[in-house]
Amino acid sequence: MVDATWGTGEPPRDVLGPLESGAFDDHHPPRAELVADCVHCGFCLTTCPTYVLWGAEADSPRGRIYLINEGLNGEPLSDSMVSHFDKCLGCMSCVTACPSGVQYDKLIEDTRAQVERRYSRGPADSLLRKAIFAVFPYPRRLRLLRGPLRAYQKTGLQKLVARSGLLDRLGPTLSTLESLAPQLRKVPSPPRRVAARGTRRAVVGMLTGCVQGAFFPEVNSATVRILAAEGCDVVIPAGQGCCGALSAHNGRREEALGFARRLIDTFARTGMDYFVVNAAGCGSSLKEYGELLADDPVYAPRAAAFAAKVRDLAELLDELGPVAPRHPLPITVAYHDACHLGHAQGIRAQPRALLRGIPELELREIADPELCCGSAGIWNILNPVPAAELGDRKAANILATGAALLVTANPGCLMQVAAALRRQGTELAMAHTAQVLDASIRNLGAATLVQARST
Ligand code: SF4
Ligand code: SF4
Repeated sequence: MVDATWGTGEPPRDVLGPLESGAFDDHHPPRAELVADCVHCGFCLTTCPTYVLWGAEADSPRGRIYLINEGLNGEPLSDSMVSHFDKCLGCMSCVTACPSGVQYDKLIEDTRAQVERRYSRGPADSLLRKAIFAVFPYPRRLRLLRGPLRAYQKTGLQKLVARSGLLDRLGPTLSTLESLAPQLRKVPSPPRRVAARGTRRAVVGMLTGCVQGAFFPEVNSATVRILAAEGCDVVIPAGQGCCGALSAHNGRREEALGFARRLIDTFARTGMDYFVVNAAGCGSSLKEYGELLADDPVYAPRAAAFAAKVRDLAELLDELGPVAPRHPLPITVAYHDACHLGHAQGIRAQPRALLRGIPELELREIADPELCCGSAGIWNILNPVPAAELGDRKAANILATGAALLVTANPGCLMQVAAALRRQGTELAMAHTAQVLDASIRNLGAATLVQARST
């Protein structure tokens, strides 16, 4: 349990103590010097979704840092300790809030890798995680799900199942998975290379992604069109696979390393100036390839060079500056900061600037923007009940803006918020930032966005 003195301003005496055997081994344990940066001020507490939900110190950033410190000082990896680490969404809201610059992102990532190597989970939890990681990081396997899922949605079977209440009886995990599935549309895959319109300003490699590619191909198509319109040659090599973000964020470091090496190899000969990403969770991980592969003498320099080219789509467009004319979109938009874009990459101004650059578009802010919607990669599947609570809060704040369209830059957030809105008996048009810009550049009108629901 968390010591009652923690958070009173007095650091525990052992915070700078020597690394002993305990919860962690010596292969990249969480670093004691990063733990020591925490001055226990508590400024992070109210921005932490799990602390907001449960009000328990051990489920706050400060409490988890305390537990990491206990582990560094000889406490074994107990069920309770792992449970508090597992409940962290990895949203990095605490990193934004912390005035002392505590690198909680590094602490939790190292902790999770230790947990995955050194802790035996119960059979149900292990099985669920194995199933998730046998499918989600494999774009081809995910694409195979499209056919059956479309049939389920189009034949009326989905409505029948919903009316029967069958999924609720089978448990929250299955019903959450079902509720998250977006409405699928047929979209042709973009070509492997698309030429810039007008004068070429850059050559851009593009990640098609796993969930983005399989369930939101229209976002990738919009991304390609915008980049070409803004003067970029776009290169999309086949067989690029997963970037490893999901694995890295869940402590599966070896798996993440394999995905990262493959991606670096796939783009090695493209001659790209930038590597563009339109999914927030992927972007934050790709920018850390240099650190992820730092122990690999062959890949370390290549990984660092690759990471230096990574840009979120909004970041790159902001950097390049607009050349394609924007046409009016008379619509009110609520912009939701995906945690891995806002907190993890600090990209908040660029997407807003892009949206404000569209004539007649009115941008509205959502209350409590720092609080996660509860998606957090696979957190909503592993923790369906609290995830739904966070989703409901976010959905209510979004509806309160009165906007006609929700815009965000992460497929997980789109699915999570759509599911929450459906639970509340409401629907709202949703789009990725790329789709809004695309509609403006192509002069499609606001009605296209409101009709073409993303989820
Ligand atoms: S805000 Fe930073 S220094 Fe303060 S308790 Fe949280 S992590 Fe520690
Ligand atoms: S990453 Fe998010 S959930 Fe985890 S401790 Fe920080 S604020 Fe809380």
